Amino acid sequence: MANIIDGKAISAQIKEEARLEAVELAKKNITPCLAVVLVGDDPASQVYVRNKKKACELCGIRSLSYELGADTSEAELLELIDRLNADKECNGILVQLPLPKHIDENKVLLRILPEKDVDGFHPYNVGLLSIGKAELKACTPAGCIELIKRSGVDITGKSCVVVGRSNIVGKPVGMLLLAENGTVTTCHSRTKNIAEVCRNADILIAAVGRPKFITEDMVKEGAVVIDVGINRGAYNKLTGDVDFENVSKKASYITPVPGGVGPMTIAMLMKNCITACKAQNNIK
Ligand code: NDP
Repeated sequence: MANIIDGKAISAQIKEEARLEAVELAKKNITPCLAVVLVGDDPASQVYVRNKKKACELCGIRSLSYELGADTSEAELLELIDRLNADKECNGILVQLPLPKHIDENKVLLRILPEKDVDGFHPYNVGLLSIGKAELKACTPAGCIELIKRSGVDITGKSCVVVGRSNIVGKPVGMLLLAENGTVTTCHSRTKNIAEVCRNADILIAAVGRPKFITEDMVKEGAVVIDVGINRGAYNKLTGDVDFENVSKKASYITPVPGGVGPMTIAMLMKNCITACKAQNNIK
């Protein structure tokens, strides 16, 4: 039976580290500050935004909240971002995705100053990630790496297989594994013999968005399995991309859903807020 990687405990550790850094910053009269922008009334986004604000409070990060109507124009949103970019007190800007259809997401993400891009989605930060120099790393992928490393697993030289190639999870997690000296293979919907490729993995990351996609026969004995998937089934029950019940009999380490990767995203966001604040105040 695999060791279960406790994402709640590890995320609590990271938030505590962020809180301690905020205490140090307070001694210099600096309060890290995150602006959270929500457009529209998507209930899932409202929950995410509420949780982000709660985490800020816990970590000693000030949060500014902008809840805009669904009919907000692209120009109005861009104008708000310009104001937050210019605001010296505000260290990080997070625009909750998805945005209403009439707003060009790409244009909005490009408008955020890279040094305030605490989601790590700006092409400048994505570029830094690809050359191994990112300070602000995409939160969920960075969270996956923390889960692996804090479980005592060394990524160096390991065969790492990522299933999924999205810009927000699959690609950045592949870059981060490479930066940790893993040997990385990325799979997607056109990959041939995917089960065979997955069976070669010492570290397998599933970011597919299909419930129980990774089955026991796709996993090598003793592999480390990280499940990014969040799939909502009947009665809103959460299921990961991995068949946890059977894969956990074979893996050496595995993340559950819920309670694995999920809580890491906000913890890494808190860490990015502190990083952004320190960089903007020239603190090493
Ligand atoms: P996307 O839908 O953007 O990407 C899914 C990827 O999986 C694509 O690259 C797609 O391939 C690939 N894929 C789909 N079907 C297959 C298949 N049959 N065989 C092989 N590959 C396949 O999803 P995201 O990356 O945004 O998210 C992935 C999962 O992670 C979702 O469940 C999402 O909810 C969850 N998630 C969790 C987060 C967290 O905080 N824990 C944060 C972000 C996401 P192709 O490119 O060829 O279409």
